[in-house]
Amino acid sequence: MLFGKRKKNAGRDAKPEKHSAKQATAPATTQETDADAIAAIPADRALDMMADLLRILGENAFDVGPRSAEEIEETFETWARHLLIGVPPPSRERDEGEDLEVGPGKRDLPGLRRAVRDQRVAEHDYVTKSLHDFRDAAWSFISSLRRTLTVEQNADRRIGHRMRRLEGAVRSGEPEKIKGEAQETVSLLTEFLAERGTRYREQIQQMAARLENLRDELDSVRERAAIDPVTRVYNRAAFDEQIEREVDLATLFGWRSCLIMVDIDHFKWVNDNHGHPCGDVVLREVADTLTRCFMRQDDFVARYGGEEFAVVLRDIDLPTALDVAERGRATIRYQEILHGDPDEPIRITASMGIAHLRRGETAAAWIDRADRALYQAKDAGRDRIEGDPGDLEER
Ligand code: GH3
Ligand code: MG
Ligand code: MG
Repeated sequence: MLFGKRKKNAGRDAKPEKHSAKQATAPATTQETDADAIAAIPADRALDMMADLLRILGENAFDVGPRSAEEIEETFETWARHLLIGVPPPSRERDEGEDLEVGPGKRDLPGLRRAVRDQRVAEHDYVTKSLHDFRDAAWSFISSLRRTLTVEQNADRRIGHRMRRLEGAVRSGEPEKIKGEAQETVSLLTEFLAERGTRYREQIQQMAARLENLRDELDSVRERAAIDPVTRVYNRAAFDEQIEREVDLATLFGWRSCLIMVDIDHFKWVNDNHGHPCGDVVLREVADTLTRCFMRQDDFVARYGGEEFAVVLRDIDLPTALDVAERGRATIRYQEILHGDPDEPIRITASMGIAHLRRGETAAAWIDRADRALYQAKDAGRDRIEGDPGDLEER
């Protein structure tokens, strides 16, 4: 109900117990004209008709703000009984100097007139305000919906049409029309939003499942990770798995990870001059240095093969990656590796190639770019770091 709750069965129930003032009065004949009837109505018959009118008003009352339909009906009924049999009228404020003594045979007609007028004014104000509130609500509904639709680019044309109809209805100010159009709009939108919700939910579920798999796989890689026995960092098999996962996760989360390929310079010379066992010690020292330099939880250091290492730095900008790599290079450069004669520590250097993962790039392509950067470092004289030229331009 738009304007508050109306009484159930309003105007339908007969109320046999109600009093009548015409018990001793003959009923008017049906042949009388309206003018004749009005003129001929005796005083008690007029009271009877007024009481009927009051009861009709009461039976058709609806909730007006804090006053319930029942309360209003009760008030009108008391007034009707006051007119008919002289029971006290509902209490009311008296006008200044007004005599409120209602003795036998007297009726508070000014009070009744005021009560009816006040009730009608209250109803009018309430209906006007309700209509206003309803229109405000409808407008705010329309504007918030507009905002939503602006975001939803694939909004159904039907919604646009429906919205125009609703706007038209709100402009017309006809409550039933507004209600009808609002209901139509709500059901169309419910259908539309449910369909969109399902679509988004499915996408999110797929993403979540994919993510879950990746995380599981990543964990299992770490758990199963084969550790290289010589250097005690991850071996090549672990690296191959890790690099694929890294690319997948970076694609999902938009990470810009870096790959650094590290190769010991002139390592053959170490083997040739100090023997293979010494070469192994050098490999282990370099691995330890890399592990210490690339120490973030997600940093991944592996032995790529021979005297070559690979380091994956998750989601890092190129300048930072270059800084950390530079620290690693310098540490290796100035490190004294003791083997055999303590007075003759072994000194080595390493070259590095670095590549920033690009969107949509495969692991193989990423490795290839880092490798090529490494060869450039070698060609440029070793003991240095080169970035992929494309990355540096981008930077
Ligand atoms: P470059 O500066 O161009 O990298 O020269 P390099 O001597 O470091 O490179 P090269 O590829 O000529 O030699 C790498 C050597 O590393 C050859 C191989 O015998 C040695 N090597 C590979 N794996 C191991 C290992 O596990 N232990 C030892 N001691 N040596 C290894
Ligand atoms: Mg080498
Ligand atoms: Mg090599």
